[in-house]
Amino acid sequence: MAVKCCERIGICNVDRNGSITELQREFFGQGWIFKDWKAFHEHQNAPCYVPELSDTVYTREDFISLCDNQEKIAERMFDEVDWQSPSTLMYEWEKDGEIDICDQCGRMFLSYDVHKCPHCGCFICEGQ
Ligand SMILES: [Zn+2]
Repeated sequence: MAVKCCERIGICNVDRNGSITELQREFFGQGWIFKDWKAFHEHQNAPCYVPELSDTVYTREDFISLCDNQEKIAERMFDEVDWQSPSTLMYEWEKDGEIDICDQCGRMFLSYDVHKCPHCGCFICEGQ
């Protein structure tokens, strides 16, 4: 994994119920966001990302559940978000063929240059 240029940009604190008590975004990548690499890698439930356009706080758990409970995909997703919501990035991935759902087992996988489902091992028909 590449070395990160920073451990955290912006500030986000939440109360016990997960409501934001303090939020400061900083410019990163393509927009104004909060992103905390350390929190993502060390805590399940700490705020680790707030997108530019909504005050929605995401935790590692949120990323993992969006990614079919697969940490590898969640980590890739966390690395790539730089202004959008994680679900918007997921939509972009689906549109660009970065991610796919296996017809056989129903699991999600990163599909770029993949010809076999990593979960059930079935071959993926690409209409060749
Ligand atoms: Zn499969």
